[in-house]
Amino acid sequence: MASVVTETLDPFQTAQGQVRQAVAALGAPQAVFEYLREPCRVLVCSIPVQMDDGHVRSFIGYRAQHTDVIGPTKGGVRFHPQVTLDEVKALSIWMTFKCALLGLPYGGAKGGVVCDPQELSVHELEQLSRGYIRAISAIIGPERDIPAPDVNTNAKLMGFMLDEFDRLKGQNTPGLITGKPLVLGGSKGRDEATGRGCAVVIREAAQVMGFSLAGATVALQGFGNVGSNTARILSEMGCTVTAVVDAQGGAYNPNGLSIHALQEWTQEHRTVAAFPGSQPLTSEELFALPVDIIVPAALESQITARVARSVKAKLIAEAANGPTTPEGSDVLFARGIRVIPDILASAGGVTVSYFEWVQNLMNYYWPESEVQEKLERMMVDSFHAMAEMADRHAVTFRKAAFMVGIERLSQAMAARGWIA
Ligand code: NAD
Repeated sequence: MASVVTETLDPFQTAQGQVRQAVAALGAPQAVFEYLREPCRVLVCSIPVQMDDGHVRSFIGYRAQHTDVIGPTKGGVRFHPQVTLDEVKALSIWMTFKCALLGLPYGGAKGGVVCDPQELSVHELEQLSRGYIRAISAIIGPERDIPAPDVNTNAKLMGFMLDEFDRLKGQNTPGLITGKPLVLGGSKGRDEATGRGCAVVIREAAQVMGFSLAGATVALQGFGNVGSNTARILSEMGCTVTAVVDAQGGAYNPNGLSIHALQEWTQEHRTVAAFPGSQPLTSEELFALPVDIIVPAALESQITARVARSVKAKLIAEAANGPTTPEGSDVLFARGIRVIPDILASAGGVTVSYFEWVQNLMNYYWPESEVQEKLERMMVDSFHAMAEMADRHAVTFRKAAFMVGIERLSQAMAARGWIA
């Protein structure tokens, strides 16, 4: 079994602290923090679902909309037994900063339903998805708030959610939701977008740090959508992936793993564990490997202060949301290890979701090459905006990424007359 490293933390306090620090570092008015310290709207709902055996069970759902100062809000919906209101609020704040850093015309949002999808049948999951959309239908829409998939939700459930909204409104509204099936107006390139965006910013960081990706070694925690696509694209860029860990176990080969073969193995066996030619590995061992790059692409709060002290890599790209604790970040900074923060390294998904929404509003669809080219340009520009801010103020990439966001949000607040 992969070992799980946890540290008790309130993600909402972490997110608020990051905003407060970025406002202070830029010398922005205190009012900017006041506008951003809490989501502007939070909806808590009860979703009754008739289960397959006929009894009715109600689930708690949340939707947090952080700020609409730049545009409609946008963010995924997660189905998970440990979803809390504080987590959803924190994730909505992080979405605001992802969108602001990437220059997307959105504020952040996030949704969640407290449930264990493993315990629900396909029919029950469909009813829960439809019930959730009915519960939040009054506050969402293509010009209000645009949901998307997140942990344990996928294109299929987005299709049900879109259908429910369309039945309620009596019209077709493809721009309501992103991450939809292609046939309902999904975008080409959405599946691999987060991984591609992560690989592109790793390439830019390597250039700035003065090392070549050719032969650079990489270890990834997580081999799902984000981890496997990041691994594939990094190996196409010349990297050697030597280690991968997932929820069931790990695979390590110091000479490199074939990502194509590992993807086929994982499809068949549902885990990377026991991949032929590899040695087993735990998450804790993975973070301490002598590799150039580490990509956490699984869970929150994995790189604690203790784990950070064992890291030998020179670069960490946070493909997952919130994989490093604030204490872990401090240790990495003190040890000179560069971190591409989650609000940039995992922003490829929301960027292509934005392209999906644009295509829906135009009713005109782009080839995959165009999606990739536009994604690449936005990731590269955002990386350099963050790196320049970091140089100018002698701060970490993480703080700089929030500062770029605060700069843009403050300009929008001033333009609306919210602040002087
Ligand atoms: P996924 O469910 O496809 O894959 C998750 C991977 O993490 C799996 O390989 C799983 O086995 C592994 N994992 C789970 N528990 C683990 C444990 N205890 N130890 C080691 N590995 C473990 O999810 P995903 O879509 O790839 O998302 C991964 C992360 O990236 C999440 O934090 C998610 O919020 C974030 N993210 C995803 C997207 C996206 O577009 N999918 C966008 C932005 C951020």
